[in-house]
Amino acid sequence: MKGLVLNIQRFSTHDGPGVRTTVFLKGCTNSCAWCHNPESIRPRPEVQIYPERCLGCGRCIEVCQAGAHQLVEGAKGYHRERCQHCGRCAEECFSGALVAAGRSLEVEEVMAQILEDAPYYRHSQGGATFSGGEPLMQQEFLRELLRACRDQGIHTAVETAGNYPWPFLAELLPSIDLVMYDLKIADPGKHRRYIGNDGERIRANLQLLGAAGKPLIVRTPVIGGVNDTPEEIGSIARFIADFPELLYYELLPYHTLGQAKLQSLGLEEEERFTTPSKEHLHELAEVARQFVGQVRPN
Ligand code: SF4
Ligand code: SF4
Repeated sequence: MKGLVLNIQRFSTHDGPGVRTTVFLKGCTNSCAWCHNPESIRPRPEVQIYPERCLGCGRCIEVCQAGAHQLVEGAKGYHRERCQHCGRCAEECFSGALVAAGRSLEVEEVMAQILEDAPYYRHSQGGATFSGGEPLMQQEFLRELLRACRDQGIHTAVETAGNYPWPFLAELLPSIDLVMYDLKIADPGKHRRYIGNDGERIRANLQLLGAAGKPLIVRTPVIGGVNDTPEEIGSIARFIADFPELLYYELLPYHTLGQAKLQSLGLEEEERFTTPSKEHLHELAEVARQFVGQVRPN
């Protein structure tokens, strides 16, 4: 079985316990206004363009059968609307001006990369993490990957934002050791404005997950001007306070890495957001601690 993989990151230390290999699957069911990985949103291969790196070798023009790359008055031009997403030009571009976002890979190809670091998982209590985008969007592919990890005795974590029917996740839970769940905004109106839906299904799924007794980490990216208030963070912390297997609640500061990526995909930045200071993040963590025992940052 094949799936659309954005990236496989080895020696990851922020996506669950120990040393991990994180597999990013492409395609997402939310549309967060501040997305720091916009190349993960669309469920199809894409080419990211960084014109300042172009050396003018012309290889992309030669290999593109859709005529998307052309010379216009001596300069390299690109017609994104003509692209058929074959990825050939990115394979031929050695300067890094064209970067393929999304490759179709077999379960066995992904597993071969995961298994390369199996000794490190054993020594560090690490494993494999499946992230995105929204990994549940490729539920069948994810199911096969989880099953293959289970067969090899590899610890599995899934990073999810919860916007899909509950049975999608419920069916996979027996093969998952840890769920890392993003709850970004408590207020339904704000959720609709910044994420594209009112968040009701996301909260309902988290409620069911919390009751399912699966080891769980809940995370909130803290975005200046959106959810960096005691009301928002307190409301989320109160919501998750009674989950029996909650390992901890984590606040992650917004960063601006997504801005350059938007341009490379031909997308416009609609709104600017700010990164909360360390002090403010610690103040918000204090608010969350009124409801939840373990909160990061410590
Ligand atoms: S292959 Fe890359 S470096 Fe060569 S012309 Fe195309 S974009 Fe520029
Ligand atoms: S991905 Fe394929 S169709 Fe699209 S620009 Fe590159 S070579 Fe042309």
